Amino acid sequence: MSNTRHYYVGRIRQLFDLFPRKSVGDLLTYAYIGAFSLIALLTYLAHIITDNIMEVQMETVEVSYYLGQQRSLVQQVSFHATNYYSYGEEVDLTFLQTALGQIKKSQQYLEYTISKPVFLDELLGGDVSSEALKQIYYGPPYNLGNQLNAFIEFTDQFLVYSAMDKSARREKLHKFISREYSDKILPGLDAALANYQREAIEKIQRYFQIQFYMTVFILIVLVIEAYYIFRPLVKSIKKYHNMLSRHANEDELTGLNNRRAFMTMAQEALKAAQENRKEVAFALLDLDKFKSVNDTYGHDIGDKVLVHFAKLLKNELRPQDVIGRIGGEEFALVLTETGQNDAMKTLERLRKRIEKTPCRYKDAQGQNCGLDYTSSMGYVCVQPRENHSVALLMKAADEALYESKEAGRNRVSLGHLSGSVVPEPLRKDSRAVKSA
Ligand code: GH3
Ligand code: MG
Ligand code: MG
Repeated sequence: MSNTRHYYVGRIRQLFDLFPRKSVGDLLTYAYIGAFSLIALLTYLAHIITDNIMEVQMETVEVSYYLGQQRSLVQQVSFHATNYYSYGEEVDLTFLQTALGQIKKSQQYLEYTISKPVFLDELLGGDVSSEALKQIYYGPPYNLGNQLNAFIEFTDQFLVYSAMDKSARREKLHKFISREYSDKILPGLDAALANYQREAIEKIQRYFQIQFYMTVFILIVLVIEAYYIFRPLVKSIKKYHNMLSRHANEDELTGLNNRRAFMTMAQEALKAAQENRKEVAFALLDLDKFKSVNDTYGHDIGDKVLVHFAKLLKNELRPQDVIGRIGGEEFALVLTETGQNDAMKTLERLRKRIEKTPCRYKDAQGQNCGLDYTSSMGYVCVQPRENHSVALLMKAADEALYESKEAGRNRVSLGHLSGSVVPEPLRKDSRAVKSA
C-alpha cells in the first residue's frame, strides 16, 4: 500500500520536473491571477444568469401582451367582418384592415419568439424555447399557429370579394372568420397565455435558484481563496518585505545596524534628546591592531572576533542604546539619556569586559583556543541645549578615538565639541517679561 503511494508521489514529482522551475514570486503571481480569474469567471456567469432572468421577464411581458392583443384583434376582425358581410359598403373597412395588419405583426413576433433559442437554456441543456407555446402553436389540439395563419389568409381572401357578393365561397369564408376559427383560436390563445405564463414563472424560479447556488458557490470560493491563496500570499509578501528591509539595514556578519541604518537611528536619537532636553553620548570604537589578528590567525578567525565583539556590545549595553557597525572593524554607539560621567563609566566597563573576554575558537587541530583583543574608544557628550549634527559628533568622536590610538590603544577618550547652543524658547522669555 505504502509502496504504491510512493510510486504515485514519485510520478507526480516527475511530472512537475517536466516544467521549468519558477521563482516563488512567479508562482505567487500565477496563484493571484488564477484566483482572480476564477472569481471573475464566476461573477461573469452570475451576471449571465441575472441577464437571463431579466430577458425572460421582459419576454414574458411581451409575449403575454401579444397573446392578449391577438385575442382582442381576432374578436375585432370577426366582428367587423360580420358587419361588413351584413351591411356592405356602409361599413368602414379601415378598422378591419388595421386589426388584420396588427394580427400579422403579432403572429410574426410570436413565431419568431417561439423558435428563438435562449443561450443559457442551451448551456444548461434545458429546453431551447418555450415548450408550452411551441406545443400549443404547432401541436394538437389547438394548432394555434396554423389556425391563425388560416384566419389571416381567409380574411385576406374575404376582403377580395365586393361588398355585395353573395357567393357560396364568400359565405363560407365569412363563417370561418366569424365563428369556426374564432371559436378555436380564442381558447387556443387563452391556453397559450396561461401555460406560457406558468412556464415562464417556473423558468424564472429555476434561474433564481441557480443564481442562489451560484452566489453561495462564489462565497465559498472566495473564502477558500482568502484562506489558501490570499492569506499565504500576504504572509509571504510580509516575509519578503521583512527580509528585504533586514538586508537593507543589517550588517550581514554581525547582525548589527549597518552604517546607513545607524546614521538614521542616530539622527532620530539626537532629535529625541533635543526635544526631551536630555543628554546623549556618541562613541566610536575601533579594534586594536586588527590587521595583525587577520594576518596571524586568518580572515575567518578575524570574522569570529568581529561577531564576538558585536555580541559583547549587545550584552553590555541597554536595549535603548543604538549600536552599529560602520566600517570593517569600526563600530559606533549612541548612548541615550547618558551624561559625560555615565558615558565614561559605561565605555570603561565595556573596554575592560572586552579586554577580559577572549574570543573562543577552534584551531586547525580542533583545540579550543582563546584570542585576546582590545578596542580603543572615543566619545562626545551632547548637553540638552546644544545643537550639533550627527556628522559633527562623529567627527569629534573620531578625533577622540585617534587620541586613544595615539596614547597607546585600549583606552577611552573624551572628545571636544565646539558647536552652537539652542537659544531658550521665546515663549519663556515673554512670560518672564509679563510676570516682571
Ligand atoms: P589600529 O589599531 O590602528 O586600528 O590598527 P588596525 O590594524 O586595526 O587598523 P587598519 O585600518 O590598518 O586595519 C583594519 C583591518 O581590519 C584591515 C582589514 O583587513 C580588517 N578588516 C576590515 N573588515 C574586516 C572584516 O569584515 N573581516 C575581517 N576578518 N577583517 C576585516
Ligand atoms: Mg579602523
Ligand atoms: Mg583598528
